[in-house]
Amino acid sequence: MKITIVGTGYVGLVTGTCLADVGHDVLCMDVDAEKIARLEAGEIPIYEPGLESMVQANVSAGRLSFTTDPAQAVAFGTMQFIAVGTPPDEDGSADLKYVLAVAETIGSHMNEYKVIVDKSTVPVGTADRVRETVAKTLEARGERLDFDVCSNPEFLKEGAAIEDFTHGARIVVGTESERVKGLMRECYAPYIRQQEKLMFMDVRAAELTKYAANAMLATKISFMNEIANLAERLGADVEQVRRGVGSDPRIGYQFIYPGCGYGGSCFPKDVQALARTAADVDYRAELLTAVESVNQRQKQTLFAKLRQAFDGDLAGKTIALWGLSFKPNTDDMRDAPSRTLMEALWDAGARVQAYDPEAMRECRRIYGERDDLVLVGDRIQAVKGADALVICTEWKEFRTLDFAWLKQQLAMPVVIDGRNLFEPDAVKAAGLLYFAVGRGDSL
Ligand code: NAD
Repeated sequence: MKITIVGTGYVGLVTGTCLADVGHDVLCMDVDAEKIARLEAGEIPIYEPGLESMVQANVSAGRLSFTTDPAQAVAFGTMQFIAVGTPPDEDGSADLKYVLAVAETIGSHMNEYKVIVDKSTVPVGTADRVRETVAKTLEARGERLDFDVCSNPEFLKEGAAIEDFTHGARIVVGTESERVKGLMRECYAPYIRQQEKLMFMDVRAAELTKYAANAMLATKISFMNEIANLAERLGADVEQVRRGVGSDPRIGYQFIYPGCGYGGSCFPKDVQALARTAADVDYRAELLTAVESVNQRQKQTLFAKLRQAFDGDLAGKTIALWGLSFKPNTDDMRDAPSRTLMEALWDAGARVQAYDPEAMRECRRIYGERDDLVLVGDRIQAVKGADALVICTEWKEFRTLDFAWLKQQLAMPVVIDGRNLFEPDAVKAAGLLYFAVGRGDSL
């Protein structure tokens, strides 16, 4: 099958590469010429485990290629996947300018039947707007060509994107058209040999399913953070509570880790966008608003704990940071709790000495060169000469630690653990002042 993917970011590149890997011919298009040039040179612009070798293998096999040329992209595939960004607008709603720009491009260049597949996370009603935009563009050209629009939201997680794409729990397709159903079945056939995973539904239901899934996961995290904050004030250990709660199969262990808040390119914007969608239809989505505000507060707890540990004066202090990405196994720093912390530290006159296994280049891209940010080559250098250590991301390599050694490195010696990686008693026994999330100490 010939497939075009428009937007070659996290979702577009993973989708295109995985579909090429099962034998389809895929052309990935992007307006970012530098990104496409790097991909053509065999370089992967993002960090995603396993992706680099998969891209290279499929490029070598001639099944995967890249372009910036919209006319070539539209001519290539019968299936035109839209995987461009849908960032939050000023009022929190999803900004559809990139999605609608792609719809216009498709309408401007198509010369035969196309299926336009909305893979970007888009509000309910967007498929209708894409359809209208394509129809208007065709009309302006004086063309009457047949096309369909369907919704196929993506559920992959960064850091495990290939596994999620190839072995996801379900493939949701919103369409009423039998022709589209047949084409989507052909597209995803290699993934449903073992088990039927295709879920056909109404377009609006498919669009809402994506937001509902992300909002539910974000709710679990904010809920547990609320319990952690309570536990802290009540002298209870939230880790024990987490195990007790998660053992109930109706609740489960996933997404109930307390921490310094959720980040990334999806949960924050999707919860806000769904709340905005609700407001647009005169419904006050109180739970969604609370999930968002609990998270905003949670992202500030690392700084609040540090400030308290230093009696409100962080000016001139050097703070070591372990982890910059919003979660392990990605270089993505969009809405990461580390950013909330760093920006608050700089405002307070402190200096940051940070290490992340994959996100340092992204950090440099976001913040540029500045005197109060030093990026170092490993976690050991990060704590050298620092007053305190803050753990923002639970990368595997941070999970073991010689506490006695750390005590000698830190001037204060304060450790703020935003991911509850260690047993408080063991850390405290080494003479460190250890503050995690919801583990009995209400600093
Ligand atoms: P991204 O920012 O990594 O990639 C988007 C790409 O689209 C960029 O490379 C950009 O240059 C390109 N682009 C913008 N306008 C374009 C145009 N007119 N033509 C061609 N290319 C264009 O974004 P992402 O993280 O891949 O997210 C894409 C969508 O998928 C969003 O709606 C997001 O909510 C959704 N999503 C993301 C994830 C995730 O984990 N990142 C998971 C599921 C769904």
